[in-house]
Amino acid sequence: MDNLFKNIISHCKTYGFIFPSSEIYDGLSATYDYGPNGVELKNNIKQAWWKSMVRQHENIVGLDAAIFMHPKTWKASGHVDAFNDPLIDNKTSKKRYRADVLVEDYMAKLEAKIQKEVDKAKKRFGDDFDEVMYSKTNPRVLANAEKHEAARTRLAKAMTDGDLEDMKKMIEDYEIACPESGSRDWTEVRQFNLMFSTQLGAVAGEEGKLYLRPETAQGIFVNFLNVQKSSRQKVPFGIAQIGKAFRNEIIARQFIFRMREFEQMEMQFFVQPGSEMEWYEYWKAERLKWHEMLGGSSEDLRYHDHDNLAHYANAAVDIEFKFPFGFKELEGIHSRTDFDLTQHQALSGKKMQYFDPVLNESYVPYVVETSIGVDRMFLATLSRAYTEESVPDGKGGSSERVVLKLHPSLAPVKCAILPLVKNNADLTEKARAVFDDLKMDYAAQYDEKDAIGRRYRRQDAIGTPYCITVDHDSLEDNAVTVRERDSLTQERVSLDGLKAYLAQRL
Ligand code: ATP
Repeated sequence: MDNLFKNIISHCKTYGFIFPSSEIYDGLSATYDYGPNGVELKNNIKQAWWKSMVRQHENIVGLDAAIFMHPKTWKASGHVDAFNDPLIDNKTSKKRYRADVLVEDYMAKLEAKIQKEVDKAKKRFGDDFDEVMYSKTNPRVLANAEKHEAARTRLAKAMTDGDLEDMKKMIEDYEIACPESGSRDWTEVRQFNLMFSTQLGAVAGEEGKLYLRPETAQGIFVNFLNVQKSSRQKVPFGIAQIGKAFRNEIIARQFIFRMREFEQMEMQFFVQPGSEMEWYEYWKAERLKWHEMLGGSSEDLRYHDHDNLAHYANAAVDIEFKFPFGFKELEGIHSRTDFDLTQHQALSGKKMQYFDPVLNESYVPYVVETSIGVDRMFLATLSRAYTEESVPDGKGGSSERVVLKLHPSLAPVKCAILPLVKNNADLTEKARAVFDDLKMDYAAQYDEKDAIGRRYRRQDAIGTPYCITVDHDSLEDNAVTVRERDSLTQERVSLDGLKAYLAQRL
């Protein structure tokens, strides 16, 4: 899996998806820039989300709020006091870790041990193997499952209570060593606030202290009534937003999975108090469907209920994706109660209530939110699509290729127009005409450099669903050969029908 992940990262750089930020200065940790293909893929992900949220729901509207907000926003939301991670340093390696992540890694190791036992038994018993029965009775599996459950409940309690002493004790009790140095010489655990702060121009001191927003949601909460009144929405309704968020993450490894500057796609859905669990279940199912529509399956997606709820939530679930380094959070669905609106009402002194014409009464709505990182979705999409495979080479043998089996709606380039050979004026003219005809409708690419086989491989590597080859026959029959990326099938398509052919498939 490590190798696969390394290959994906290197593929991203070679093919212009993602570069380390400020690379000429040796980069800036956990900060990345999106290259020519990366920005297209990222925009397509955002568009797919926006379409499914805003366009397809009459009762969801958009917003683009500023990154800077009045400092009281973050006091009201609880971020100044409670947006902390438990930090621990290893004295030998001088490396810094999140204490809860060290315990989670310990739990992941226990899970892996259980899985190994099960796999071994599966091999040994073949078709007769009863996994449920085995997991319930095998002493080694049982012992590890018990340890796992004990760690899970203890961690959840320590996180909910903010019990830093027990976090440290857990690290000692579970004999967790620094992954770098193997040392168990740890500092105490302390709280670390994740918000970046900066100073407003001419205002000195605390008065002028601003934060870079750690989530986009608060811009939606403070605008709740502006949006509701101007768009004449009635509860239940939602506000969707895509924008940058910033978190001073203690450790930011695993490529674009955890960054300090990232982008979120969030939707806050305002509902009548008491109906929130119904809407929570609705959005939980809807969001999974969106992932499945883009190619996800039960193999690589799963729900994970939160063990320790954030200060604002009464229910929370993650949609986890099987990244090359294991199942991790991709999206969160949270029932946030009326916490945020009530807090803003208290600190601003402004009413945050909705008058319900059906009930003929005013109330502070409850909120169910869906929140997903664009960058994490990007990594999930690439991890799912990245395939190394052997394909027939057309000469009776086979050859290796790397192909991104992206959902066509996400592919950075939808079709490539390739004259069979270069330096042939007739073919160039014809191919250019095809390209010009398509480029306003689709992200198209014209390429005549190198042998046709190499050009196909280049398009495979960026996930282009269709390669359109213009050959000598095209000059006679006004038709082209369309090659499909995954099946490698080639079809002769008349130029008169090419747009319709692509429209149907893309
Ligand atoms: P984690 O437990 O991984 O730190 P979180 O529970 O703090 O994540 P939320 O506050 O629920 O995350 O944020 C919503 C979504 O924003 C996450 O599901 C994830 O997709 C994305 N996200 C959060 N933090 C980061 C980050 N540092 N880098 C990239 N994406 C992030």
